[in-house]
Amino acid sequence: MSERSPAIVIIGSGFAGLGMAVQLKKSGFNDFVILEKSRALGGTWHDNTYPGCACDVPSHMYSFSFELNPGWSRMFAPQPEIQAYMERTADKYGVRDHLRFDSHVEAMEYDDAAKRWDVTLTDGTVLRPRAVVSGIGALHIPSYPDLPGIERFQGTTFHSAEWNHDYDLTGKRVAVIGTGASAIQFVPQIAKQVDNLVLFQRTPPWIQPKPDRAIPAPVRKVFEKVPAATRAFRNGIYWALEARAVGFTIDPRLSAPQEKLARWHIKRQIADPELRAKVTPDYTVGCKRVLLSNDYYPALTRPNVTVETAGVAEVREHSIVTADGTEYEVDAIVYGTGFKVTDALGEQRIVGRDGRKIQEQWADGIEAYRGTTLPGFPNLFFLLGPNTGLGHNSVVFMIESQIQHVLSCLRLLQEREAVAVEPKPEALRAFNDRMHKRLRRSVWSEGGCQSWYLDENGVNRTLWPGHTFEFWASTRKAKAEDYTFTY
Ligand code: NAP
Repeated sequence: MSERSPAIVIIGSGFAGLGMAVQLKKSGFNDFVILEKSRALGGTWHDNTYPGCACDVPSHMYSFSFELNPGWSRMFAPQPEIQAYMERTADKYGVRDHLRFDSHVEAMEYDDAAKRWDVTLTDGTVLRPRAVVSGIGALHIPSYPDLPGIERFQGTTFHSAEWNHDYDLTGKRVAVIGTGASAIQFVPQIAKQVDNLVLFQRTPPWIQPKPDRAIPAPVRKVFEKVPAATRAFRNGIYWALEARAVGFTIDPRLSAPQEKLARWHIKRQIADPELRAKVTPDYTVGCKRVLLSNDYYPALTRPNVTVETAGVAEVREHSIVTADGTEYEVDAIVYGTGFKVTDALGEQRIVGRDGRKIQEQWADGIEAYRGTTLPGFPNLFFLLGPNTGLGHNSVVFMIESQIQHVLSCLRLLQEREAVAVEPKPEALRAFNDRMHKRLRRSVWSEGGCQSWYLDENGVNRTLWPGHTFEFWASTRKAKAEDYTFTY
């Protein structure tokens, strides 16, 4: 089934897709549609509704630069407030008419004769746009651990990103697997509710105090009346966060004060030396995402919470048995085990020019020119593509830089009256070689930990290795000489 096709298809309505849509409209491109696989916009901020879900980057920075929100209730806004902000933004900029829900893209193939993409949805619909902007992000395919015997388990199981709100945890015996960014937010919430909680920790994260507080009404009033004050506040946060990149990318030794703060946090919040030792990481701070929480360690000290560091040896009908033989009776298992990050990009069914599959293109690892474009895949743009993630600042900043890059490619196409644009292979090589040289000496490669930042060969395919302003400077305007145009 084919229908009249828009000139541009955006996939996903998270911060990336939404931001792209707004900027397309602002630049006079109105012929586009946003395909969203779920029933509401928001992407990860729609999917993740677990108790305690909130941003771990200050909200004044984790929001669009073109749509400051003077009304953030807290320094780190909770999920419903972030989603409401995204909904409001969609309304304000007239994006809603372009949204198409329940539209899951199954495959994309470039038709070189027509110079169009065939975008096939799971319901069989085929759209044939000139350009595709992928805003699918990295955090949307839940990763489930392969626990031996899990198929025998008779209780309830669910993932943090697919929280089962119909299941009442009150008075239940619950196992939580994982101690990442999501788990440290929901564990303190559910610990108060459950009968008892066993937390399976494989690797402890470094955690620092969360400088979270309500933003008082008078301050919000000032932000509302004086937009320059909101802007200045945001800029202050930006530079404070940016300072952290120095230790992560230049020399991990510069992060020593960060580690000191995290150690002090453990000492201050946990009295029991055994528990302190359990939760203290043995790798360099920053190697995994540094987490922020004021209530996680206190939750672990509750009498109804056990931190278990022996791995899961076996799951039985009503229990979990650890590698050292301890058996815990449980009613439910909650997975805080994160997402299939590199698969999110690498497993897509995308076929470019000359029938080349994206998996062939990425046989040696995922990469893209300035994290955004690929030779052989004309007019296809990845927002939050390879190596555009961050460990120190807001990814919304990265997304906005990439959006400017896409817009400048579209403008070049218009100016030159060309139909397709793709980067030159040598431009991709030069960009990637430079970036990976920097990555090799970063804390993520040398910090002594395993993380989802690295692929199966230990190569970092997710993070940008420098300051975000460097990325901004290098992406905001596409260099015509790095691109090939088809007329
Ligand atoms: P995550 O950071 O990848 O954490 C997954 C946790 O599960 C880790 O502790 C991991 O242990 C553990 N795990 C995974 N597989 C396991 C297995 N087979 N057996 C035992 N343990 C296992 O996932 P996440 O917490 O969902 O967060 C993912 C990303 O989402 C974050 O890094 C962040 O970028 C984002 N996020 C952001 C916010 C926010 O506030 N803005 C909140 C939540 C998430 P290992 O460390 O040993 O692998």
